[in-house]
Amino acid sequence: MATNATFPPYEFYEGDSIVGIDAEIAAAIANYLGYELQIVDMEFDSIIASVQQGEVNFGMAGMTVTDERKEEVDFTYSYATGVQVVIVPEDSAIATLDDLAGKKIGTQLGTTGDIYSKDDYGEENVTKYGKGADAVIALKGGDVDAVIIDNEPAKAFVAENEGLKILETEYAVEDYAIAVSKENTELLGKINAA
Ligand code: GLN
Repeated sequence: MATNATFPPYEFYEGDSIVGIDAEIAAAIANYLGYELQIVDMEFDSIIASVQQGEVNFGMAGMTVTDERKEEVDFTYSYATGVQVVIVPEDSAIATLDDLAGKKIGTQLGTTGDIYSKDDYGEENVTKYGKGADAVIALKGGDVDAVIIDNEPAKAFVAENEGLKILETEYAVEDYAIAVSKENTELLGKINAA
């Protein structure tokens, strides 16, 4: 399993182990199918290529199903709903999605929040970070005015960092699924059955 373990509560480090919702679901599927689960941590942006090249058997990383990604990999049935939300400082003047126009937005490289906000607010206004947590540090430091990221990690980051809040307006509602190589329809079928 390829993942990016900077995405609580789906995948994150507890000591040296990668734990979380995805790790637990993957362990249950592997157990059911009689496989041994090995989790490989990498940049989110590398997961699809790693699945395509057969370096890993599947990718599971709170990954949103999109038409573009479906051209590169197959997705299992969706197992969760994700929502892209906006994190701002508590005293921010930004209250709605429209207020983001012309503001500096931080995202995690290669995520749907990154891809959509580039289209909606202009590439020049979007700064990409390798990790969501680094985008949040940039927000606290005033380098960006808002961070667009999935709701569950957003809640975790806001809980860990004082002075931040999540806007009530949802930016996008999405489905999470497991990515499997298009050449491995057998595994796709087995995961779906499990
Ligand atoms: N759900 C988002 C996406 O698929 C972010 C996933 C992540 O950062 N792990 O692009």
